[in-house]
Amino acid sequence: MNTAYIGRFAPTPSGYLHFGSLVAALASYLDARAVGGRWLLRMEDLDPPREVPGAQDAILRTLECYGFEWDGELVRQSERHTEYAAVIARLFSQGLAYACICSRKQLEGYAGIYPGFCRNACHPDHDAAIRLRVPELDYHFIDRVQGEFRQHLGREVGDFVIRRRDGLFAYQLAVVLDDAWQGVTDVVRGADLLDSTPRQLYLQELLGLPQPRYLHVPLIIQPDGHKLGKSYRSPPLPADQASPLLLRALRALGQQPPTDLQGAAPAELLVWGIVNWDATRIPRSRTLAEAQLR
Ligand code: GLU
Repeated sequence: MNTAYIGRFAPTPSGYLHFGSLVAALASYLDARAVGGRWLLRMEDLDPPREVPGAQDAILRTLECYGFEWDGELVRQSERHTEYAAVIARLFSQGLAYACICSRKQLEGYAGIYPGFCRNACHPDHDAAIRLRVPELDYHFIDRVQGEFRQHLGREVGDFVIRRRDGLFAYQLAVVLDDAWQGVTDVVRGADLLDSTPRQLYLQELLGLPQPRYLHVPLIIQPDGHKLGKSYRSPPLPADQASPLLLRALRALGQQPPTDLQGAAPAELLVWGIVNWDATRIPRSRTLAEAQLR
């Protein structure tokens, strides 16, 4: 096994896997296995109030019946709170992060970019959100599919939340700590996370963590432009449709499975996908309409 490549799939159990998650899972799986790399599974269960009961089990069952095999034990972010809290405490005590007591109402009209009201207020860190100060700098990287992506953290993002006021840890922090802790070298995921990446690059730099390579696959969208997702009630992936949906996902990724694979078992399709994987064929677009893939 090639230990120089470590990939991962990191679903959030706020809903079931849908066709868009299958495309992301498949891309990360094939990209890892094609070079003999490891493929890890991490449950991003940071937000219990938004978790759908039974979704974690359903996700694991779906992955299994679609033929995916992960290496090592499943990691749950709900078991990593001590680590997240320790890093937040350190960033806070170093003045790199600060407490924010702004209400949602106060932040209306700023288009999601924090205007900095609490930046120099020195609020205590309890009963408050914790925000990371961002530098007035551009962060950029070369995505393997999407090409160069850049964002000015100060102007386009603003100081962002790393722990919510209700005590829940933010995705941006947890994902960076866990990818580094698990030794992930290659992040392959949906293009909806492209504009989270500069925040993650900044956190990696701040914490002295290595920067993985990135590959963002097109996000599968509904005809009306909505992303497939939990809030939009995308149907869960049916167990009895594994083969046709894997074939459709391969085609969404620009791979060209021969017609005689129709009717092949999931494991066989994955083997074909590994042997023939060509990431340069992935469409260089941020979105793909699901209807066009049928
Ligand atoms: N948990 C995220 C999601 O389900 C993916 C995070 C990532 O791949 O970085 O959308």
